[in-house]
Amino acid sequence: QTNLLFIRSFMILLLSFLAIKLNLCFSSIPSSLKTLHLLGHFTFNENEFATRDFGGQYHFLPMAVLHPKSVSDIAATIKHVWQRGPGSELTVAARGNGHSLQGQAQAQRGIVIKMEALRREMQIHTGTKPYVDVSGGELWINILRESLKYGLAPKSWTDYLHLTVGGTLSNAGISGQAFRHGPQISNVHQLEVVTGKGEVLNCSEQQNADLFHGVLGGLGQFGIITQARISLEPAPTRVMWIRVLYSDFSTFSRDQEHLISAGKTFDYIEGLVVMNKTGLLNNWRSSFNPKDPVQASRFKSDGRTLFCLELGKYFNSEETDVANQEIEMLLSQCSYIPSTLIQSEVSYIDFLDRVHASELKMRSRGLWEIPHPWLNLLIPRSKIHNFVQEVFGNIITDTSNGPVLVYPLNKSKWNNRTSVALPEEDTFYLVALLSHAVPSSTGTDSLEHILAQNERILNFCEAAHLGVKQYLPHYTTQDQWQAHFGPRWEVFVRRKSAYDPLAILAPGQRIFPKAI
Ligand code: FAD
Repeated sequence: QTNLLFIRSFMILLLSFLAIKLNLCFSSIPSSLKTLHLLGHFTFNENEFATRDFGGQYHFLPMAVLHPKSVSDIAATIKHVWQRGPGSELTVAARGNGHSLQGQAQAQRGIVIKMEALRREMQIHTGTKPYVDVSGGELWINILRESLKYGLAPKSWTDYLHLTVGGTLSNAGISGQAFRHGPQISNVHQLEVVTGKGEVLNCSEQQNADLFHGVLGGLGQFGIITQARISLEPAPTRVMWIRVLYSDFSTFSRDQEHLISAGKTFDYIEGLVVMNKTGLLNNWRSSFNPKDPVQASRFKSDGRTLFCLELGKYFNSEETDVANQEIEMLLSQCSYIPSTLIQSEVSYIDFLDRVHASELKMRSRGLWEIPHPWLNLLIPRSKIHNFVQEVFGNIITDTSNGPVLVYPLNKSKWNNRTSVALPEEDTFYLVALLSHAVPSSTGTDSLEHILAQNERILNFCEAAHLGVKQYLPHYTTQDQWQAHFGPRWEVFVRRKSAYDPLAILAPGQRIFPKAI
C-alpha cells in the first residue's frame, strides 16, 4: 500500500516536472526571439493568415511570424535558429503571397517570414540592357506597373501576377512567353540570398554560381531570396489576343510546335482543352469578337472535346496595320476551324493581368477561397499524344471544374544548372489541370473526386513510363523526391548540406526532415 502510494506520488511529480520543462522549452522560443534586435517585429498571435494558402488543404499554425523591415532581420532570425543547433525543432518558411497548393509556405510551430513586409524601393536601370532590382517579396503586378512608367517590362511572366518574385523563382515561373524567353528563372541576372546558416550572399552566374543555380527553382531549400535583378525589355502598349479552335489534337499540337519554333511568330502561345461545353463561342463573346460573326454563330461545339490555341501579338498603337498583316500571315500557316477565330485588342497591362479580372469574378461568386487541387505536369513531346488520349479520353470527362492548359515549351530556353527537374526531351508540354473543388459537394466537383482523378492520372503516367515531371511538385516520401530529381538528386542533396545543413528552410515542401 505504502509502496503504491509512493510510486503514484513519484509519477505525478515526474509528469508535472516534464510538463513544466516542455512548457518552458516552447515558451522559451518566443522569449528568445524577443531578444533579437530587429527593425521589424514578430507576432505570436493572430497568425491565422499563415495557415492558409491557395490550395486550401493544409493548415499548419506557426509559432511566430516575422514581419521583416530589413534583410538583417531575416538573417538575424535564421542565424538565431541555426545557433540553436541540430537539437532544435524550429524551422523557417518564407511566405510570398501564400499561393502555394499544399502548404509549401507553411511551418508547423516554426517561424513564417512574411516577405511582403520587406519593402524596398524598386530600382529600374534603363539603357541598352535594362533591368530592375526588386525585393523578394515584391508582387509581379507591382513590377509591371513600375517598369511600364519607363516603357519597360519583364520578358517572362506567369499567367497570374499577384504572386511574389521569391515564390515564382523558387519554382520556375512559366507562361505563354516562356517558349521564347524561357521561364522567369531564365531572366534573372543576380540574387541576394539569406542561407540556412543566416549568411547574406550575393550570387549570379559569376559569383557564388552554385548557390545562384540552386536557388532558382530550388523550392526554397537553399536560401531566402531577399532581392532579385530581373531583365527588362521595351514594353508594347497593345496586344491582339486571339483564340482559335481545333477538333483534333494532332493538328492543334503540330501548329503549336510549329509556332514555338518559328523565327517570326506570336509573342505569347498557350492552349486550352475544352470538354463538354455548349455555346462555347457565345460564352467568350463578352471579351472576344468573332472574325466572321455569321460563321461563328453557326459553329456548334455540342459538347465535343476541343483544343483552343491561345495567341498574343504585341504591338504599339501606331503599328496596328503591320501587326494585323503579320497576324494574318502567321494564322495562314495554321489549320484551325476557320469559323472559330475570335480576337480582342487589349492594353498590354490588361492582357498580362487578365487572370486578376477572373479572380474578381470568382471571388464575387465565392469560388476563389475554396480548395484548389491543382495538378501541373511537364510531359515529353513524344508522350503527349499518349497522355492526351488516356487522360482526356478516359479519365477526365468535363472541364467545368476549372481550366486545363496544354502548351509546348523549348528546353533550350532553360538553364540545366538550375534546380528544376525537367523531362528528357528538347520539347515538352506543360499540362495544367487547374481545378477548384466545391466544399459541400459530394459529386464530380468534390475535393475527394478531383484528388482521386489526379491520382489516377499520376498512376497512369507512372505505369506507362511517360517520363513526366510534376511542376509545383508535391510528394510525401523522400524516395518520391529522389525519383523526381533523378540523376540531379545528388546535386540537390549536396546543395542542401552546403547551404541549409540543419534543414531549417521551407519545411512545407517536405523534402528533408528536420535534422534533429
Ligand atoms: P508562396 O506560396 O508564398 O511560396 C511558395 C514556396 O516558395 C514556399 O516553399 C515558400 O517557402 C518559398 N518562398 C516564398 N518566397 C520565397 C523567397 N523570397 N525566397 C525563397 N523561397 C521563397 N506558376 C507558374 O509558373 N505559371 C503560372 O501561370 C501560374 N499561375 C498561377 C495562378 C494562380 C491563380 C496561382 C494561385 C498560382 C499560379 N502559379 C503559376 C503557381 C505559383 O507560381 C506558385 O504557387 C508560387 O509559389 C506562388 O508564389 P507565392 O509568392 O504565393 O509563393
